[in-house]
Amino acid sequence: MVNIDIPHSQTFLKSQSQADAVTGTEFNYYLLCKKKLWLFSHDIEMEHNSDDVLIGKLIDEESYSRKKKGIIIDGVVKIDFLDDNVVHEVKKSNKMEEVHIGQVLYYIYRLRQKGVDIRKGIINYPKQKQTTEVILTQEKEDEIKNTVKKIVEVKNMLKSPDVLNSKICKKCGYEDFCYS
Ligand code: SF4
Repeated sequence: MVNIDIPHSQTFLKSQSQADAVTGTEFNYYLLCKKKLWLFSHDIEMEHNSDDVLIGKLIDEESYSRKKKGIIIDGVVKIDFLDDNVVHEVKKSNKMEEVHIGQVLYYIYRLRQKGVDIRKGIINYPKQKQTTEVILTQEKEDEIKNTVKKIVEVKNMLKSPDVLNSKICKKCGYEDFCYS
């Protein structure tokens, strides 16, 4: 993993607020399921039991091995790799593409907060030989800010949100926990 020295913008606050502490995983989980986000942010972690997560990690480690990988921002966001001022995220499957797009937009947003002049990201799906380009427009940036506020609200909820009752639960590491 690589910690890069990114120049601080004038607006960046050194002390991390709750919003600054939203991790890439939490952003992803919020888009998938609010209960999943809440469980994870309350240190109830079961996702490592899922074969899908393991396969995803292997693809991440084996693909693009010559690139500078694992760029960490503030200890809470890990970017797969940066190439030509473009954020790259490697995913196993494109089934949850909307969630992946949101996650990459969040990474670009965090880099911009640090003063990096960047707007573009690419999601790489090596198994499908597919790439998806994303651009953080001003409108998208406002959406991301709003989503971050909502994530903090979910994390601060006293009770966990209701189960989703969705087909995605079948592939979720928390399934046994939620439906036992
Ligand atoms: S099993 Fe379903 S309800 Fe429970 S955390 Fe996973 S996606 Fe959410």
